Amino acid sequence: MPLPYSPRFAYYDGKIQPSSSTSSFTTIDPATSQPLANIHTSTSHAVDAAISSASKAFPAWSSTPAIERARILQKAAAILRSRNDSLAKIETHDTGKPFSETSTVDIVTGADVLEYFANYVGGGGMNGETIQLRPDAWVYSTKNAVGVCAGIGAWNYPIQIALWKSAPCLAAGNTMVYKPSEFTPLHSTLLAEIYAEAGVPPGVFNVVQGGGEVGAYLTQHPSIAKVSFTGQVSTGQKVAASAAGGMKYVTMELGGKSACIILPDADIEQAVDGAMMANFFSTGQVCTNGTRVFIPSTLQSAFEKRLVEKMQYIRAGNVFDPATNFGPLVSKPHWEKVTQYIQHGINVDRAELLYGGASPPPWLASHPDQTYKNGYWVQPTIFTNCTDTMTIVREEIFGPVMAILPYTTVPEAISRANNTSMGLAAGVFTSNLNLAHKVIAQLEAGITWVNSWGESPAEMSVGGWKMSGVGVENGKRGLEAWTRNKSTLVEMGGVVGTVFAKL
Ligand code: NDP
Repeated sequence: MPLPYSPRFAYYDGKIQPSSSTSSFTTIDPATSQPLANIHTSTSHAVDAAISSASKAFPAWSSTPAIERARILQKAAAILRSRNDSLAKIETHDTGKPFSETSTVDIVTGADVLEYFANYVGGGGMNGETIQLRPDAWVYSTKNAVGVCAGIGAWNYPIQIALWKSAPCLAAGNTMVYKPSEFTPLHSTLLAEIYAEAGVPPGVFNVVQGGGEVGAYLTQHPSIAKVSFTGQVSTGQKVAASAAGGMKYVTMELGGKSACIILPDADIEQAVDGAMMANFFSTGQVCTNGTRVFIPSTLQSAFEKRLVEKMQYIRAGNVFDPATNFGPLVSKPHWEKVTQYIQHGINVDRAELLYGGASPPPWLASHPDQTYKNGYWVQPTIFTNCTDTMTIVREEIFGPVMAILPYTTVPEAISRANNTSMGLAAGVFTSNLNLAHKVIAQLEAGITWVNSWGESPAEMSVGGWKMSGVGVENGKRGLEAWTRNKSTLVEMGGVVGTVFAKL
């Protein structure tokens, strides 16, 4: 039987390259476990060819005036928006995320970032600075493209991650070889074709397909000048170590175990809404999720009562039903991992199960589409009265598992929130803005929110502290990560300070 989507191959020299592989694998629809498409793993020869294609394209693209690059990238953003729903449908099949989410978030936020960087470089974002040192001497600096860059994506926001990497990369005049996660590769060549349609020259954006070994081959390649990686801390450590050998620039967007702190004067309704967004959006598969929910003991019972009441608004099921807001996990291995964490929370950590659990969701048995029984569905789960030493509180689960941690004083909550090797995100819910700023200032995290969770607009630079990453994406600082600086001192009054003069 033919698969729903055409096979995916590498893409370089401005076209799909069907001869770039000798082996293939199948990508799966997580809602049903049905196959979607055959993906052809790129050989090392194909990765070399993709890098060579990017190297050949670099001189012309990097010397194209920024305003012309901007015009092309703006057109690509417009094409993305015009195809929002068809791309969202593909992302829903590939990731399992409900269409209500992919059609309003994934492509939209990717196109926003592309438009942002196009406008930014078109408006002078690549300009350097001039410093008048003395009347007859000054320093000027230029921002320069870095070269051929590798982009490695995770599976949770496939096209968004591809755009968050390629938008500033291309806007700054670099070229890219991008590898999607093997679990969610469908968007990759479609994005390459959209860039081509908008006028991005052949070789500027290239794609290779495959798993970790293809990513490792790509990132260690001597012709790669920069690696932008999104994924787990453990993989990021390997990629950063191999990049260090070649003195490559790196951006590392890694995992987290973020703290969502409900302060004593918080509005309970707001706090519950925030905690739910911070744990169950995208079935908990969001790097910034606030999985450690700190609640004052005095508010705990009111908070939990309202939280459990509101859990009925989580609607799993047909991922194309506009009312569905909770999909399956992305893959079988990830389903096994998350289910084991829930079992561990119950049996080993002995945390108190407030909602959900490790058994299949009750609605699955009566679902009209029998194929859904084979999908990677879990119940949204809440543990309460957790302690800081529990495994489910210490390790990133990357699934819909909330841990509620009661506390007595605000300094105690801050200190416990910071007691982790990771530092991706954090947030507070409060009616007291003075207190909010004081707490935020003490939290060891690169992305923080006050009375909100998860919004990550193009203008906001985001990146983790501690083991959660190196560098930032988006915002003005996000462009710097794709440039290298050259400073030039100009002297008009003769060589200054020479010691080699006649005595
Ligand atoms: P992984 O680290 O497993 O994989 C990430 C990417 O790296 C995939 O494309 C993977 O290929 C590839 N890869 C695997 N091994 C290597 C290697 N040795 N060299 C180069 N590339 C390699 O992460 P997941 O895909 O499981 O993503 C989930 C993780 O991503 C979570 O920890 C999450 O917190 C984090 N994340 C962080 C974000 C942030 O902005 N900070 C945003 C989104 C997610 P393949 O999948 O094909 O094996």
